[in-house]
Amino acid sequence: MQHGKRLAVVTVGLGTFAVAATSGTALAQQQGRDLVEQAAEAMGGLERLQGLDNFVLTGFGQYLNQEGGANPSPHPHAPSKWQAANATERSFDLANGRAVNRDRRGFLFPFAIERGHSWTETIALQTGVAMLDHPLTAVLEALDPETEFGAVHAEDGLTVVEFTTEGGDTLWIAIDPATDLPAWVRWISGSTTLGDVTNTAWFTGYLPFDGIRLPVGLTHSIDWRDTTVGSFHVDSYRIDVDDIGPLPEQASPPGFGGQDAEAVATPIAEGVWDVRYGNNGGAVIEFDDHLTMFEAYANEAATFARIDLANTLVPGKEVTEVIVSHHHFDHSGGVRAAVARGLTIIAHRGNEGIFREMTSRPAPNFPDALALNPQPLKFVPVDEHLLLEDETMRVDVYHAIGHLHMTNAVFAYVPEHRIFLEGDFTTYNWDWHWWGGAYLDSVERYGLDPAINIPVHGIVTTFDETIAAIEEQVERARAFCASNVASGIYMAGCPAKYSRGASDRVN
Ligand SMILES: [Zn+2]
Repeated sequence: MQHGKRLAVVTVGLGTFAVAATSGTALAQQQGRDLVEQAAEAMGGLERLQGLDNFVLTGFGQYLNQEGGANPSPHPHAPSKWQAANATERSFDLANGRAVNRDRRGFLFPFAIERGHSWTETIALQTGVAMLDHPLTAVLEALDPETEFGAVHAEDGLTVVEFTTEGGDTLWIAIDPATDLPAWVRWISGSTTLGDVTNTAWFTGYLPFDGIRLPVGLTHSIDWRDTTVGSFHVDSYRIDVDDIGPLPEQASPPGFGGQDAEAVATPIAEGVWDVRYGNNGGAVIEFDDHLTMFEAYANEAATFARIDLANTLVPGKEVTEVIVSHHHFDHSGGVRAAVARGLTIIAHRGNEGIFREMTSRPAPNFPDALALNPQPLKFVPVDEHLLLEDETMRVDVYHAIGHLHMTNAVFAYVPEHRIFLEGDFTTYNWDWHWWGGAYLDSVERYGLDPAINIPVHGIVTTFDETIAAIEEQVERARAFCASNVASGIYMAGCPAKYSRGASDRVN
């Protein structure tokens, strides 16, 4: 028994309640077990459920990109970016404690990489908590002999039972006293950008399938801005199928930034380096008494690796501030880490609110550097222009214009060396560009004359190479749109917009 591996603390609404009040007592054990057994009876009978080998659900859904952290603006009411997940088949191998989710994903917003629009198959192996977002698996896990029940409490007319699995994960299952059916399951996960996140999987629209009552509506919300991040329609259930099909060996691939890369620094000009972790990074710039870094990309590991390497570049000088190009959760994945190191964040003014939200969220269950060393956010806003200057270096930070992927974005410019620093303006190997005009529109608006481009994604290129890549990406986006229209498909973002020159025509 590994109970108590983590101390679970959950914040609901305005109050925080300690969950351990009556857990472990014989009364709590019995009360929790009785309630979940009643739920099992309501769903089709305890023995029937415990005798199942597997079940398979199919359907379709939509998932919020980056859990809401990829919207065009950081405003809580900004329009959302969803990906469609069609042809979904989720097989629960109950006998072996695992599930596999297969679906075909297509982004419902224009994306720079073909993978986002090619409906390639996504296969995710799920074990542990990842497969407990369904009432059948949650009830069976709660009734496992190794599970320990905690306190029971009431919430919005539902009876909520806490339980801790053999693996040490604490969850809560809410049961509707009118029907005895599970209404939701809740668990806590860690997040690079948000600290601890309280997740709730809601179950609605129960119907009987082979005598077992199962929900056909599955939605997933998180406690950050009370956001619905997943919305799924079940269109069939099959119980105890003969052949559940092959299951993958590996769980899902890692998120942004990859794993176990090493930071590499490349001198670009006097006092300017490109410091990259894997494919992503940006410039580090030397001032008289400090260094300024561009972007806190991906996560804590990537950001600390870049800061640590930067701090070795010039004896006696350390990174004290980071320019963050925009709020998207890949680009701001290291903001909590940077704040934990006491660095000042420089970004467009519109991001102050979201960065305060991100850096003030606690992480007692999955502590990151900021949770272990809490620091206040030091934020320097940029409106149109911010000048960073001392006797040795000048960097201009400007509001990016014409880039409808990111409205509250900045880029930077080092006039002495004609170096342009940007995130998401382009990348040399992007397949498509939907707002390719932003680069030259911004250059023109501020009267700049760049020679070298240091991007967040990819490699350092000359200005001419950068513009040539954008032109090609715009042309390819237009060809992609045209081929879709020829098949009667009207993709989001089509026809691709381009505000510049000869390519400025509408397909
Ligand atoms: Zn990006």
